[in-house]
Amino acid sequence: MFGRAPRRSDNSKYYDILGVSKTASQDELKKAYRKAAIKNHPDKGGDPEKFKELAQAYEVLSDPEKRKIYDQYGEDALKEGMGGGGPAHNPFDIFEQFFNPGAFGGGGSSRFSRQKQGEDVIHTLKVSLEDLYNGTTKKLSLSRNILCPKCKGKGSKSGASSRCHGCQGSGIKITTRQIGLGMIQQMQHVCPQCRGSGEVISERDKCPQCKGNKVSAEKRVLEVHVEKGMQHGQKIVFEGQADEAPDTITGDIIFVLEQKEHPKFKRKFDDLYVEHKLSLTEALCGFQFVLTHLDGRQLLIKSNPGEIIKPHQYKAINDEGMPHHQRPFMKGRLYVHFDVEFPESLPLERSCALGKILPSKPGKQVSEMELDECEETTLHDVNMEEEMKRKKQQQNQRSYYEDDDDDDDEGPSMPRVQCAQQ
Ligand SMILES: [Zn+2]
Ligand SMILES: [Zn+2]
Repeated sequence: MFGRAPRRSDNSKYYDILGVSKTASQDELKKAYRKAAIKNHPDKGGDPEKFKELAQAYEVLSDPEKRKIYDQYGEDALKEGMGGGGPAHNPFDIFEQFFNPGAFGGGGSSRFSRQKQGEDVIHTLKVSLEDLYNGTTKKLSLSRNILCPKCKGKGSKSGASSRCHGCQGSGIKITTRQIGLGMIQQMQHVCPQCRGSGEVISERDKCPQCKGNKVSAEKRVLEVHVEKGMQHGQKIVFEGQADEAPDTITGDIIFVLEQKEHPKFKRKFDDLYVEHKLSLTEALCGFQFVLTHLDGRQLLIKSNPGEIIKPHQYKAINDEGMPHHQRPFMKGRLYVHFDVEFPESLPLERSCALGKILPSKPGKQVSEMELDECEETTLHDVNMEEEMKRKKQQQNQRSYYEDDDDDDDEGPSMPRVQCAQQ
């Protein structure tokens, strides 16, 4: 298999470093590396030398080809390039790749708590009631940060970054100063050299595409499916589609539906409400009208023969409300709220004619004798809202000045008319 017989050298050191047996499975190796690498990571105050050894051991043993060479011939054989291993990799890369393979284009979902949780991006998506009734797809052009595809989010050409000398990779600098006899003040601040990232990329090695920023902007079009029956305020989530950043679990893009006011229909859950004005004649004698629904269908709405609609009365039409989300074949009700427009006045002869047609007044008539004993009154027009407002104001004033009130505005007096008794 090999051109020459390499000399034997130690072939148990890597196993010892990881603390596993020579027969360890890939799973056991992974577990051992994970545990030891977290413990010894220099970011967490671990020994960088030990961390490097762990990465080296894991890099070799996790590769079946290299492991075979190591088992047979030891470390030197690998150094001589027999495994095609090339130069030793950056231990931080191996660590990164282990915990965040997605960032290296390898897929996988291993996530590690060292990663920060990226922010969710929330957008408001305006939709019409028609959109919610019929369902629709909205195409939205959005810009977001992605890990630079050229350097895979490393920020450097070589993929290497070195630990910042200013802060030893912690991103934080601690300065101390003596503020008195035997008193020392300690101050922590973000390392100015690496701006808190803990690492630096040399000017020459910076990725030309992202200039060492590790991320670049990407424009893309998202298709948002608004399903039938969705509600105002409902969220449509694109998991892990927000801005990418190194060592960060990408947050979600969340669209919150905002229903635009509809000129005709109001919605409450799965029900629709529509207002309809009737003339007094229609209310009494019957009506029919055409209502264009949210999907463009024309509904004929008409009264039952002989039926009278009273002011503020509701009527319902089954299965013409909103479709139920995820069960769109089930629909709510369509409520029609009637308003009846009364004429302001009627010519005397018409009012008398009506009086003869309409059902007779309830209760007994007031007799001539009783009339003689009554005092006449006048009905004034009032705007009750205004009236209540004024009364409230007066009450407030009274609490300041205990007395005083005068209002003497007489409303317009109405001419009194009576039908000639027959
Ligand atoms: Zn780059
Ligand atoms: Zn630093």
